[in-house]
Amino acid sequence: MADGTARERRKPMIGLQPENEADWSQYRGVMVLVEHRDGVAKKVSWQLLGESRRLADTLQAPLMALVIGHGVADLAEEAIRYGADRVYVCDSPELGTYRTRPYSRVCLHVIREYKPEIVLMGATYTGRDLAGAIATHLPTGLTADSTQLDVDDERLLLASRPAFSEKMLATILCKQFKPQMATVRAGVFQALPRDETRTGEIVAVAPQMDAQQIATHVLEFVAAKDGVDLEDAEVIVAGGRGLSGASGFAVLKELADALGGVVGASRAAVDLGWIDHSHQVGQTGTTVRPKLYIAAGISGAVQHVVGMQHADYIVAINRDPQAPIFKIANYGIVGDLFEVVPALTRAVRERRQNGSDMGSAGADLTLAGERR
Ligand SMILES: Cc1cc2nc3c(=O)[nH]c(=O)nc-3n(C[C@H](O)[C@H](O)[C@H](O)COP(=O)(O)OP(=O)(O)OC[C@H]3O[C@@H](n4cnc5c(N)ncnc54)[C@H](O)[C@@H]3O)c2cc1C
Repeated sequence: MADGTARERRKPMIGLQPENEADWSQYRGVMVLVEHRDGVAKKVSWQLLGESRRLADTLQAPLMALVIGHGVADLAEEAIRYGADRVYVCDSPELGTYRTRPYSRVCLHVIREYKPEIVLMGATYTGRDLAGAIATHLPTGLTADSTQLDVDDERLLLASRPAFSEKMLATILCKQFKPQMATVRAGVFQALPRDETRTGEIVAVAPQMDAQQIATHVLEFVAAKDGVDLEDAEVIVAGGRGLSGASGFAVLKELADALGGVVGASRAAVDLGWIDHSHQVGQTGTTVRPKLYIAAGISGAVQHVVGMQHADYIVAINRDPQAPIFKIANYGIVGDLFEVVPALTRAVRERRQNGSDMGSAGADLTLAGERR
């Protein structure tokens, strides 16, 4: 817990009430935190609003968004275009960069004041940090890293997530407290189409701490050396054990660069130490939803497929025509990746040099193959 003194931290525990003494009837609606970096929203925020629209409609309750930051008025408008009925905005210079304490204070204030019955955040580094801090202070239950959401007849949130070494899906309920909270993996839900005509209410919220009360200061951001942001990537060129070694990823990087994308990996490649875990796609890696996913030297194990099956277009390159990855690929190329990938890279570069607008790379592919 990054927030509060020991005395402050104990406070909510004293306030714990058994189920039959608590009155949660005023808690209504679903609230989504719109996470962003420098005013650019994380895709998971819009994906969460899309799924939460369905939950709110089922509950016949409003869908609320919460935007915290500096210069974030546009994000509030965007949240409405992506499905929110009402957006709470806390816009202040000291909230320009994420810090646990000032952000959690705003969240706690908004939740206590406006009483949503469900609060959802992306299972990002920020979302995990913030959700834990808030849930502990309220106090309430929190399901981390959910991959499915639903509500039952008693308005209980059914948050499901892989459990027991990912062997089963557990559905977790928070029966005794409100709001019910969950963080949700990026890429598992789909955002609603952006609707310019949607209207909604925007409510300004005051920051809950003065700048001088905030003990932590962000000096600078240093990007991780070998890190990658798979969640928001539109093109991913991923490799597996078929790469035969770490150097194989250099071949994939050339294609990824030509397409304006990033490099992903199977767990086998990560476990062999060929590439950093941040590149791993799948059940125990990142769930992705790019426009184009190229899987080279990846067999298509179920734990990999669950993380990339929602890509708009999947291209599989494998020398084994029986490889399971071909079952979910839009386009399949049977061959040696060390011949196929460089040939694709050359073709993409040539088209770019000739001034062809590659646009969305996925939509522009002209490879022969079988559609899903
Ligand atoms: C609890 C649990 C969680 C897991 N989570 C994940 C996860 O998040 N992500 C994940 O990826 N896996 C995960 N796994 C592992 C998963 O089951 C597979 O073992 C893994 O995905 C296999 O990786 P691979 O496809 O790279 O390797 P392999 O299955 O060994 O496949 C390699 C493929 O490369 C092909 N090939 C070889 N050489 C060439 C070449 N020169 N050109 C073209 N093709 C070639 C082969 O035909 C083969 O199909 C998990 C497993 C468990 C039990």
